[in-house]
Amino acid sequence: MTSVDTPHRYTLGVLYGDGIGPEIVPASVLTADAAVAAAGAQPIDWKELPLGFRAIEESGEATPKATLAALAETDGWLLGPHDSAAYPEPFRSELNPSGTIRKHFDLYANVRPAKAFEGGNAVVPGTDLVIMRENTEGFYADRNTHRGTGEFMPTPDVAIAMGIITRTACERIAREAFELASRRRGKVTIVHKANVLKLTTGLFRDVCREVALGYPAVAVDDFHIDAMTVHLVRRAHEFDVVVTENMFGDILSDLAGELAGSLGIAPSLNASQDRAMAQAAHGSAPDIAGRDLANPVAMILSTSMLLEWLGARHEDEPLVRAARIVEEGVAATLARGTSTRDMGGSAGCREFAEAVAASIEQL
Ligand code: ATP
Repeated sequence: MTSVDTPHRYTLGVLYGDGIGPEIVPASVLTADAAVAAAGAQPIDWKELPLGFRAIEESGEATPKATLAALAETDGWLLGPHDSAAYPEPFRSELNPSGTIRKHFDLYANVRPAKAFEGGNAVVPGTDLVIMRENTEGFYADRNTHRGTGEFMPTPDVAIAMGIITRTACERIAREAFELASRRRGKVTIVHKANVLKLTTGLFRDVCREVALGYPAVAVDDFHIDAMTVHLVRRAHEFDVVVTENMFGDILSDLAGELAGSLGIAPSLNASQDRAMAQAAHGSAPDIAGRDLANPVAMILSTSMLLEWLGARHEDEPLVRAARIVEEGVAATLARGTSTRDMGGSAGCREFAEAVAASIEQL
């Protein structure tokens, strides 16, 4: 913030998305507002913007250009999940909304913590790691091309997808990983498959190792992606920061989220140097949408990550405090035995969010 007398007032975009999005995003707004008030931070101005099914109906675009333009004017935003696999054509074949937004704003770092809470039903109690997933290239073809999805079929029986790894993208994600590890427990694990994908993931591993030389206080090791799944299941609690390419990071973070308690508690932040987007690591869960069964924790904690990122960037101590209060409110609620069905409890999405807001008021 510029001075103590003129604190920055933040405008955050709100994109409900599809499926359980209209349930978990309002839950996150509710709990963020409670924490901001409790921390004495400036109230947030929320700006609702269309995306997904609603946007297709209203404007004929899943990710409207007007939404992208409006997001550029905000300080950050909350992205609900989208059910793009269910969109009508041609929208289903296009780059999906989160890919479009990540690409448009070059949100290259997908930060995905997996932290076990007391009372949170963790498979591996004590898990407290962060997956630093490269978000712009790798083996997700849709992120690799200027136009088109990067997948093509030369004949009806042959399908080809590209994988791209560049030194520039490896360097910047590796730097994010080592910087984060320097502020945490001081360890980075590089995940690759350099015994088979020698050139692509070999480059990823080698560049990460080069960046590691600039961080002598951070311990570093590396594993193949297949071996890493085994290590996570057995000893997730031993890992600190895990840096990996796009697709490996997507898969590993679902696994890590479940090991920490449930995919429903796995948050994420998509960030560049100057933009950030809160987005739960899970999808739109259409199987439970509209029934008040969704676990809002992942979206609530993603929002807390956004508040922390903004607070650090603007040196806004109350906002950083608000971020911590959100996490404490979630932890206190789970520790009291209130949780949603996926975690073994019986609370609805709305009831759980209200319990977190009440915990925050009591902190
Ligand atoms: P995507 O590819 O968009 O990430 P997905 O195919 O991985 O989606 P999800 O939508 O994440 O699938 O759902 C996977 C399973 O986890 C489903 O059974 C869903 O109901 C459950 N699930 C996902 N998120 C939540 C949540 N927040 N609360 C409860 N259950 C959830």
